[in-house]
Amino acid sequence: MAKCKICQVKGFAIETDINGLCSDCATYFYTSMQDDLKILEQSIAALNRINHPAAALGRLDAAEQALQRIRPYAKAGLVKLPMELPELDAWLKSMTEQWQEE
Ligand SMILES: [Zn+2]
Repeated sequence: MAKCKICQVKGFAIETDINGLCSDCATYFYTSMQDDLKILEQSIAALNRINHPAAALGRLDAAEQALQRIRPYAKAGLVKLPMELPELDAWLKSMTEQWQEE
């Protein structure tokens, strides 16, 4: 019986691919995840030089949303993030706190 590494769906009717992904999770992995990774990388780069609170918070929001979709794949070791996950979470949190005080 196969079980998806990402959404944990399991059953005899479930087929998983070479990475242990069901078809729904594999679709995202092979199609949209690169876009989300790019959003994440661009947001991090932008946040390192941004000096406008509204722009920073917009980038943080985009980064958080992309990371939310990538997170289970990162935890399963299927994707390399720009920073290790705990480090990235801590960095995003500190950036959010910093900009919300402005
Ligand atoms: Zn799945």
